[in-house]
Amino acid sequence: MARYIDPHIHMVSRTTDDYKRMALAGCALVSEPAFWAGFDRSGVEGFRDYFRQLTDFEAKRAGQYGIAHYTWLCINAKEAENVELSREVIAMIPEFLDSPHVLGIGEIGLNKNTRNESTVFLEHLDLAAKTDELILVHTPHLADKYQGTRMILDMLKGDGRIKPERVCIDHVEEHTISLARDAGHWVGMTLYPITKCTPQRAADMVEKYGTERIMVNSAGDWGHSDPLAVPEFIFEMKKRGHSPADIDKVVFQNPLTFFRQCRRFAWQPASD
Ligand SMILES: [Zn+2]
Repeated sequence: MARYIDPHIHMVSRTTDDYKRMALAGCALVSEPAFWAGFDRSGVEGFRDYFRQLTDFEAKRAGQYGIAHYTWLCINAKEAENVELSREVIAMIPEFLDSPHVLGIGEIGLNKNTRNESTVFLEHLDLAAKTDELILVHTPHLADKYQGTRMILDMLKGDGRIKPERVCIDHVEEHTISLARDAGHWVGMTLYPITKCTPQRAADMVEKYGTERIMVNSAGDWGHSDPLAVPEFIFEMKKRGHSPADIDKVVFQNPLTFFRQCRRFAWQPASD
């Protein structure tokens, strides 16, 4: 059984049975970005409670299955249309930045590539720069992805305080992976049953682009998604004859190397 990390999964919307199945499949650690709940929250207190859940309760729940749980905080791009609420949330985030389970600011990004989303994205970047936090970026879906990825990369480049290697651009696909990685960032491929990448396409991209600064995740959430998508990718890579070392680099060492840039991250794998 190969060990793995799922660097992007929304466990608050999954069951304890999923934790157990993930543990049985070799999952050692998950990182959970803050995201849209499926409905807009009514105010900043809704986010405060969500951040308490992410930094405290969820870590304990994962721990019961021997899985380490880390998290990222932000207001997501969908709710960023409400700039006033976004500013209240951004002002509240530092309350949680001492938590040993927080990896940084994320998943920030764009959804429909609007002006308000860009405003809130830039204000998150400012917070990350001032507090020296890692950044996890959500790129838009389907038709908006290429344009949105370009806008995001321009905004990141425009802030001279942000070091490219401290940013992961997530949900990359065939037409955006090089843009993001050539800019010096880490990239995440999201394995999603319908709208995103399949394990086969992800394996194709690793074959084409190599294993440097690249990782895979399930983005499992309350929608149609698969919390065991990373083991599916491992299975596909094994089937194609890739070495255990190459597979381990993509599904374990790479996310670990990225997370180790966070000054609070002290987790050590059992076998190291
Ligand atoms: Zn997500």
